[in-house]
Amino acid sequence: MRFLAGYPPDLLDQVRALVGAGRLGEHLAQRYPARHTVQTDRALYAYANDIKQEYLRSAPPLHKVGYDPRLEAAHRALGLHTAISRVQGGKLKAKKEIRVAAVFKDGPPEFLRMIVVHELAHLKEADHDKAFYRLCEHMEPRYHQFEFDARLFLAWRELERAQD
Ligand SMILES: [Zn+2]
Repeated sequence: MRFLAGYPPDLLDQVRALVGAGRLGEHLAQRYPARHTVQTDRALYAYANDIKQEYLRSAPPLHKVGYDPRLEAAHRALGLHTAISRVQGGKLKAKKEIRVAAVFKDGPPEFLRMIVVHELAHLKEADHDKAFYRLCEHMEPRYHQFEFDARLFLAWRELERAQD
């Protein structure tokens, strides 16, 4: 349950019960039946930039946004944010780059929105503190539910892979 560290024990008991009954995948499919159409890095950039323009207009521009298959296999799938600094014309410029684990490419739109909102919030707030989560909820009121369920989704995928 490494994806779910820090959640209340009674909630984790419910998850264990679902896993034990072999019903986690079904549970997720019922709650999140849809799949999104954001299938290229170009589309993902436009998707992230639209949300940024709506909520974080004054934040620095996004340099690059893309799916990253290397993030797939890990706890790093959530909460990777990258600010790359490069020297340009004698000036140090912070380039804002967002990489989304490729696992979210084939997932529900709710999880994609959650992860993009998370990464966008890091343009303003470096740490996972109250201000950070307030900003996430401002952009997506169901943020916490989606984050929890995205963690379930990652846990479920890991379980499935372990059974192969
Ligand atoms: Zn983060």
